[in-house]
Parts: sequence; structure tokens; C-alpha cells
Amino acid sequence: MMEFNDTICAPATVPGTGAITVIRVSGPEAFPIVDRLFRGRRGKVCDAPGYSILYGTIVESELEERSLDEVLVSVFRAPNSYTGEDCVEISCHASSYIAAQLLDALCRSGARMAEPGEFTRRSFVNGKMDLAQAEAVADVISSSSSAAHRIAMTQLKGGYSQELSEIRTALVELTSLLELELDFSEEEVEFADRSRLRALLVSASGKVHRLSDTFRLGNAIKSGVPVAIVGEPNTGKSTLLNALVGEERAIVSDIAGTTRDSIEASMVLDGITFRFIDTAGLRESSDWVESKGIERTLKMVGAADIVLALVDPTRSPAEAQQMLASLTARLDFSSQILLVLVNKMDLNKNVKDINNFVSSIDSYGDVVLISALSGDGLDELRSTLVRLVEERISGTSDAVLVTNARHHEALRHTAESLDTALRALDAGTPSDLVAQDLRAALHYLGTITGAVTTDEVLGEIFSRFCIGK
Ligand code: GDP
Repeated sequence: MMEFNDTICAPATVPGTGAITVIRVSGPEAFPIVDRLFRGRRGKVCDAPGYSILYGTIVESELEERSLDEVLVSVFRAPNSYTGEDCVEISCHASSYIAAQLLDALCRSGARMAEPGEFTRRSFVNGKMDLAQAEAVADVISSSSSAAHRIAMTQLKGGYSQELSEIRTALVELTSLLELELDFSEEEVEFADRSRLRALLVSASGKVHRLSDTFRLGNAIKSGVPVAIVGEPNTGKSTLLNALVGEERAIVSDIAGTTRDSIEASMVLDGITFRFIDTAGLRESSDWVESKGIERTLKMVGAADIVLALVDPTRSPAEAQQMLASLTARLDFSSQILLVLVNKMDLNKNVKDINNFVSSIDSYGDVVLISALSGDGLDELRSTLVRLVEERISGTSDAVLVTNARHHEALRHTAESLDTALRALDAGTPSDLVAQDLRAALHYLGTITGAVTTDEVLGEIFSRFCIGK
């Protein structure tokens, strides 16, 4: 275990109104430093066993016995603490005055204020968790929907790290088989059976690609599933967006940009966050495909996981067909879902007409009949959206979803190196060169869990944490 020689302190709770504030102290001197200020009913922190709670008062300073607050002190002995060091958590009353005085007194008694993320960084350096788990701490804290929370918890508990470690073990085995061959190269023996090597490589590469491919969904769940609302002008896109987000209209905001490019609003349905993007106002010419705004629309459509295409049955089916045809030509159905919404159902009394209209377009995708104005069919639309995302989640073969852009980048590099290694192996390239590609793949994989890391990377990751984490 790596030793830090200083002791850090910081509030672990947010400033503001509440019942208590928790001040965390961690490091080799945590116990004696707290004992300089703590007057316990039943003795000192230094003498207390780990996982115990002491009651007492905190005095203003070592030299000033006036009591500052009544507190509870939780004692964690190394290595059984969050950071892996001796750790004390002082629960005091939630007064910003008390917290500031206490931190000041702790610093005068030998501690120093922690940097952002420093507790979690120590936890990582002391081997309490790997880097992916440390990053999950931030994700758990910031998760705002149950689906995002579930993924972050899996990662925090190490599910993801386990998966990576299995891939790593396979790659290490592969590399050592190749390198063993090199050691005996003078004797011109081919130790490793090429077809077995190839099978191992193909399997590892498949796993990395699959994991990497989960990023689109994982990221969507973490930051909201992007849903684009498209259609000809006046088919009811804005009305639908307003109806869907209802009371939450207040959070609708113009996306930063020059003009009113699009309007976006998020909402949580059954624990899944959806980001609805209304592409209203994008069309400027009569031809849906050729119009000037189409590029921007298409970009938004390209970034969407679900596309809601609105059609108006009071208008000609040909118009709807033309729009749907140009839309479907541009969608990637392996990762995108199209839902055709027949809107303004409140205006349509004639069942036969509607049936004809629907059968002229239902080859393009699932059809839902709605009235954005009256709200009819919107419950079915909401439950369809939830069902589609849940099917995607349960359809991923890996229990783990990649949500972190840094991990996705590392997985992409890993997959590239493995693909290069596979091509090299197939081309009969000498073993040492193939081994080099495998080493590169191992390197990239290692950056995710922190097996391979630099101070710079750590600084970058932990600086994004708050102080006290
Ligand atoms: P957009 O241009 O696609 O955003 O369309 P809007 O949402 O601005 O709607 C165009 C017009 O259609 C407005 O007058 C809406 O009130 C009307 N509209 C939208 N949805 C419905 C609906 O379900 N039923 C009826 N009767 N009118 C609707």
C-alpha cells in the first residue's frame, strides 16, 4: 500500500440547510489531529476500535477549550475505510460557521484541506478500488434516473472491472504464448498453435467490440435517450413536445447556437431519462429532402436513438410516404428506432380513411395513433418509448454498459490494436510484431481500470470531482 504522509480534511456533505454536516479527515495523523480538538465522553479516538462512534464535544482550538459543537465521531481504522487510511468522520450541526471553524482548527492542528476528489484518489492509489470504480463514484452521485443509477452501481461494485479483467487475462495468455515462441525461435519451433491463437484473439476482440458498442446505449441512459421529433411543418411537432413534457415545459430551452436550431426538453419516464428534440422550424423549402435546414435536421436525426416521425392524416398519404422514404433511407436500423406517429386523430372520424392511411405507411415502422392536442394515445406512446429502451437494455449480451467517454475511447483503441494483431496473424507476420500489437491492446485496456496510468490522467479525472469526495 502506498503511504501518503499528510492528513487531509474536507466537508463530505454539501453546504446549505440540513441537520448535520460531515467533516471527513483522512491520513496517518487523522486520529491524533482529531484528538487535539475532541473531548469524548468515553475517551479518545486513538483508543477507539474501528467502526465505532464516539460522542463528545469539539473545542475551538487546541489552546482554547471553549466548546464549538457537540458531535459524533465515526472511527475507521486503516485499511478498513473509504480511503484505506485511518479516517474520521465528524458529524457536527449543519452551520456553515461551525464547519468553517472546525476545518480551520483541524488545519491548525496538522491537517490540510483536501483537493477535489482527493479522498477517492487515495482510495484508488491505496488499492481500495480501481479507476473505473472511482469514476463510478462520481456517476452514482450525479445519477438522476434509476436506469443511470443502476449502471453506475454495477460499475461501482466492480461488475465492469470483472469483465475487463477477463479480457485482460485472455490477452496476457495470448501474448505469453507468442513470446514463449520467440524465446525458442532459434530452434524454429512453432509452439503456439496458430488456429488456437486466432480463436483466442477473435474471441477477445469480439468482447471488446461488443463492450465498446454498448457506449451508445450506455451514454444515452446516463445523459438521456435522444429522441428526435421530425415531420413536415404543421404536423404538430411542437404541440407534441409540449404535450409530452407537460408541466415541465419550464425546462425547455433553446440549444446554444446562433438561431433557434432546435428545442430540447428532458423528462424521466419509468426511471429512464429521455431527451426530446423538436426539429421544428428547420424546413425552408417545399422539398423536405432538399431544403436548407435539412442538414441540421439530419444531423439531429443521426444522433437520435429514437426518431418520432409525425404525419398528418388530413393531408395526402403521398406526402407522408415521401417524408418517411427519405427518412428511412438515412437511418441506421441497427442502432436507431423509427416510430411513425399518426397525429391529429381527433379530427378523423372516418375509420376506413384512417385504416387506408395507416396501411399506406405502416411498412416504414411501428405506427402509433395520437392526438397531440387532446392527449389521446400519448400514454401508449410513453409506454412504447420505455418498452423500446428496456428491450435494448435487456438485449445487450453484456450485463455491463459503457457510459464513460474515456473508457469508450480506450476500448476503441484496444479494438483497433486487436484488429491489427488479427490481420498480422493472418498475414503470417512474425510473432514479435503480433505480440507488439497485443501489448498495445493491453496498454489501452489497462488505462480504463488504472493498471496503466499517469499522474496527468489521474489529475484530469479527479479534478472533476468535488472537494470532499
Ligand atoms: P409543427 O410545425 O410540426 O411544430 O406543428 P405545431 O405543433 O405548431 O402544430 C401546427 C398546428 O396543428 C397547430 O395549430 C396545432 O394546434 C395543430 N395541431 C397539432 N396537433 C394537433 C392534434 O393532435 N389535433 C388537432 N386538431 N390539431 C393539432
